[in-house]
Amino acid sequence: MKPRIPFLATATGAPRQAWFAALQSALPEVEICELQQLTAVEKQQCQVAIVTNPPLSELAQLPNLIWVHSVWAGVETLMHTVGDSPLKIVRLIDPMLAETMAEAVLAWTLYLHRDMPAYRQQQQRQIWQSKPYRRPHSKTVGILGLGQLGQAAAAALLAANFKLCGWSQQRKSIPGVQCFAGASELLPMLSQCDIVVCLLPLTIDTHGLLSTAQFNALPTGAQLINFGRGQIIDDDALRLALDQRKLQHAVLDVFATEPLPVDQWQWQHPNVTVLPHCAAPTDKTSASLIVAANIRHWLSTGVIEGNVNLVRGY
Ligand code: NAP
Repeated sequence: MKPRIPFLATATGAPRQAWFAALQSALPEVEICELQQLTAVEKQQCQVAIVTNPPLSELAQLPNLIWVHSVWAGVETLMHTVGDSPLKIVRLIDPMLAETMAEAVLAWTLYLHRDMPAYRQQQQRQIWQSKPYRRPHSKTVGILGLGQLGQAAAAALLAANFKLCGWSQQRKSIPGVQCFAGASELLPMLSQCDIVVCLLPLTIDTHGLLSTAQFNALPTGAQLINFGRGQIIDDDALRLALDQRKLQHAVLDVFATEPLPVDQWQWQHPNVTVLPHCAAPTDKTSASLIVAANIRHWLSTGVIEGNVNLVRGY
């Protein structure tokens, strides 16, 4: 009988079945099963589980769990669930996801760069009027977060000839990118940005990071793309910055509450583009192959690759 690894998924219906099929195909030497399929003894012996955002009540049924592999890149909810338990969390690091995110960053940067929101509004009012054109190399895009996704986005934007700067915790050295680091260098970087792209993880330090002082530091008429997490933005400060035309437009893919409730102001604001958390969906096939490789590596060496640093929070 094959060893069993449970998949603790929040997905239901067809997406849940697709995840099981992709994981099983990537890891044929084990049986990927539902938590309820494990016997009491198997639950006691279980050391690894594949997860999305399982409730604590499910994790608690596996008292000897050493680590969990998330099929998602952002694991702040899982970290919160796990709390200060010694359970190790491995998040998804998938070049395919980075490629998809880079494509999204390029697409929505061009949307802002080529004034598409304004042309859409003009069409609704039957206004025939072209806007002055500026070449990409005369515009600076600032990327907040130069990790797996931020660096892939930087490469795509550089190839499209934008001027680039980027911000991270530890200073990076990336050809073609003016690199800023640490809290003290955030406002100086923002003061140069025509378009800001947020690709930060949600942590204690990034919660509410983009607020009035940060929006005020931007050149008037700057634009924002948030593909990180909703709570990184102070929504009231964002609304004010948009209403005061300090910010020209915001493309928001992530929100404090998802789906975005129908009574939220972002839906109706003329200078907001609402996206349904679709910037970079996980590719189940490539994600499953990465999960499989990490689990195989652990089975053969006992080494857990790439576990999240619970102290720094990402
Ligand atoms: P990552 O590889 O861990 O990179 C995170 C980056 O943020 C790093 O460069 C890190 O700096 C920087 N950072 C973190 N805290 C900081 C702080 N306090 N000050 C300055 N820089 C800070 O993460 P990733 O794989 O690129 O993913 C980023 C986030 O994207 C995920 O956490 C998730 O929330 C979001 N995401 C969104 C979607 C979507 O569809 N919208 C899809 C996938 C992921 P260092 O390099 O110095 O450590």
